[in-house]
Amino acid sequence: MPQSVEKTLDYASLFLEPEYKEMLSAKSKLENMPEADKVKEIADWTKSWEYREKNFAREALTINPAKSCQPLGAVFASAGFEGTLSFVHGSQGCVAYYRSHLARHFKEPASAVSSSMTEDAAVFGGLNNMVDGLANAYSLYNPKMIAVSTTCMAEVIGDDLQSFINTAKEKGSVPADFNVPFAHTPAFVGSHITGYDNMMRGILENFWKDKTRTPNDSINIIPGFDGYAVGNNRELKRMLDLMGVKYTILSDVSDQFDTPSDGEFRMYDGGTALEAVAEAINAKATVSMQSYCTPKTLEYIENIGQETVAFHYPLGVSGTDDFLMKISELTGKAIPAELEKERGRLVDAITDSQAYLHGKSYAIYGDPDFVYSMARFVMETGGEPRHCLATNGSKAWEKKMQALFDSAPFGQDCKAWGGKDLWHMRSLLATEKVDMLIGNSYGKYLEKDTDTPLVRLTFPIFDRHHHHRFPLWGYQGGIRVVVALLDKFFDEMDKKATASDDTAYAFELTR
Ligand code: SF4
Repeated sequence: MPQSVEKTLDYASLFLEPEYKEMLSAKSKLENMPEADKVKEIADWTKSWEYREKNFAREALTINPAKSCQPLGAVFASAGFEGTLSFVHGSQGCVAYYRSHLARHFKEPASAVSSSMTEDAAVFGGLNNMVDGLANAYSLYNPKMIAVSTTCMAEVIGDDLQSFINTAKEKGSVPADFNVPFAHTPAFVGSHITGYDNMMRGILENFWKDKTRTPNDSINIIPGFDGYAVGNNRELKRMLDLMGVKYTILSDVSDQFDTPSDGEFRMYDGGTALEAVAEAINAKATVSMQSYCTPKTLEYIENIGQETVAFHYPLGVSGTDDFLMKISELTGKAIPAELEKERGRLVDAITDSQAYLHGKSYAIYGDPDFVYSMARFVMETGGEPRHCLATNGSKAWEKKMQALFDSAPFGQDCKAWGGKDLWHMRSLLATEKVDMLIGNSYGKYLEKDTDTPLVRLTFPIFDRHHHHRFPLWGYQGGIRVVVALLDKFFDEMDKKATASDDTAYAFELTR
């Protein structure tokens, strides 16, 4: 075998060694693979209109959904609070999935523990796992708060978190006054954004229940589930600081998922201070940056008498305008000249590159707020967001998207697909080609299969590093998106130009 201590090959080069090539070719014979021609014939047919119709008639099967399950969102929301450990009541493998998903995206350790339910707990209930698990988590990891959510397994058997936590406190697993907010997060309904919403509401209820409001002039901001949270939250804080606004970010993961390498391991870093969460009940208003991530949370906040406002991932010129103007209206603080200048720079960047942006067609997928904002932004640049898909998008989201398309000539041939998956997206890309696909790392298979250039701009991004450190929000974030789109267009132009001597003239130094 070519692998040895002296010469360690990574997988990319290891499987090119002759021994592995031989083994892999023998394997395909063993598995009775059909002939390559037949495979190609069927693959081509699956890119036809005939197959597309069959694909869209599919009802009982989901293939490659562009979403994750509820507890992942709950773990993400919990990570944004000071000293908070996520405790997921259910099976261990699920929690390994949330940790690895977050760690692979942010390239940071992501802590979360599980109550490790196995067969006996599935039959008799997971109370003992909760009692022992909370005691272990409290004494081993020294958290300031433990946020409990559930996996499918605990939900299927109907474990009651409130009563389990009460019992665990009575048995002394954690002190009686220790904060243990919880949220039931059944993974077989909704998605990670539902889990985010449930956990956010659970945490606020934990701190605000039975409290009376004494309104002040501060505002709360809920960022929502966001793979770009490190860059976005910092940009958000910079803009609010420039305006001189008093605010509390409810769940700020920007430090937790970006700890420095300085010799000290930080299991917890940054996050919203627990005193600030308790005090946030007195804020004048709560602003959600992602409406579809927070419906139940905002309903709860409205019921306690606080004003709420919700955006769809404010990005680009008009997205940022709307956000800043609303903050100015809520707080009475003017938008400073510095931010106005940044706006002008974004408009300038779009104008400078009009020749390459105008008229381009896009397919966009991801969470409903992200897809809405990205479609709105590409329309601002003169682009057409033809296929917009959100597996966790509803009929109401489709209607909202249609209203967006109807608002500008660039939306004429565009359609929103709620509840559809990436196998549907493949049919769309194969039958109605677009210039660019905007999505996440999973889109690389579509890029290869349908020859549609991919730009990774949403969670999860596993196969490219550090994108999350730079914001998409605000005018500066808009410039970053423009650069990402243009870089891809130019790379494609260079690739095509060098593909044959006939097109070599287009391999230009200046564009
Ligand atoms: S869908 Fe259910 S089983 Fe799968 S990871 Fe999520 S909670 Fe676990």
